[in-house]
Amino acid sequence: MAQEPVDVEGIVQNKAGVLVLSFSARTTLNCVCDRCTKSFRKEKEIPFHCYLATEKQNEENDEIVLLEDGEFVDLEDLARTAFVLGMDTKILCSEDCKGLCPRCGADLNLGPCSCKKEVDPRLAVLAKLLENKETNE
Ligand SMILES: [Zn+2]
Ligand SMILES: [Zn+2]
Repeated sequence: MAQEPVDVEGIVQNKAGVLVLSFSARTTLNCVCDRCTKSFRKEKEIPFHCYLATEKQNEENDEIVLLEDGEFVDLEDLARTAFVLGMDTKILCSEDCKGLCPRCGADLNLGPCSCKKEVDPRLAVLAKLLENKETNE
């Protein structure tokens, strides 16, 4: 994954006695496509906000960040958390990536491979599972 510098820009506002920290963290990620395994770079910007508290709150709230020594906040740590939370669960080089052929591994984005479509890959997986189950018992 990443390892380009992360830009963080933020402001702290005092809203009726409550400190609200809003920032956005921006970086370029080095990604690997989940479908075709191609690496690519992607700009990612994650907005984040939380409330700042000087004392430990009675109720647990993920949105409340306790200030260290009542004064400091670890922006780097917050930015890291924001990225973890904001990360896409699926990383694709493009929305319509065709992925790799499950049989020969050819990149189907470059064109169809020479495999014949005999078995639906989902059924093939099922057949394999059943096969394993039988050998285990
Ligand atoms: Zn892809
Ligand atoms: Zn193929």
